[in-house]
Amino acid sequence: MPELLGPALVQEAAPATHLEEVRNRAAGCTRCDLYKNATQTVFGEGPKTADLVFVGEQPGDKEDLAGRPFVGPAGKLLDRCFEEAGIERAKCYLTNAVKHFKFEPRGKRRIHAKPSRGEVEICAWWLAAELRLIRPKLVVALGATAAYALLGPKAKVSRDRGVVLRSSAGLAVFITMHPSALLRMLKQPDGQKEIARFVDDLKSAAAFVDR
Ligand code: SF4
Repeated sequence: MPELLGPALVQEAAPATHLEEVRNRAAGCTRCDLYKNATQTVFGEGPKTADLVFVGEQPGDKEDLAGRPFVGPAGKLLDRCFEEAGIERAKCYLTNAVKHFKFEPRGKRRIHAKPSRGEVEICAWWLAAELRLIRPKLVVALGATAAYALLGPKAKVSRDRGVVLRSSAGLAVFITMHPSALLRMLKQPDGQKEIARFVDDLKSAAAFVDR
């Protein structure tokens, strides 16, 4: 299967010229079924001039309610790691591979459900539109779903983490962990080591755009 963003970039029949236009279009998206149960589309956030774009998997419960990416527990951990790595969140663009929250209801709780490959492929349309307009120096894929959206099925977090790869759409892509995976690892003995490794990844990404 080809990489997703290459085809997605050329599928856009009437390309938007402003991020706000893409955001407005995405707000009414019904391209897959995920919009039906979620509260709203959670579009990316940050300056159009960002050199660094971070791509996660999908919004979580808090993001779905707030309509903003990375504002839940994983986002708070990411903020802490940004600070340690010397990265200013306000200068970066943060988004997700999939723009609606997929979950399974369990009582009053909504439990995260992993988006299917098909849902990631359909939603890559919006990610491609964001990246076409921003044209960052580096896109950081946070976790396997983002890596799949950006590089296709060949990408493997365990093997490709920490190196800059080139996507078929011409983007420089750097793969690392998703902060929600780090949150789970915090309960394990090596949790702090994993956080430190993630901060090192962030520093490497920042150094790549600063060189
Ligand atoms: S998940 Fe993506 S493709 Fe599916 S409805 Fe939401 S914005 Fe559209």
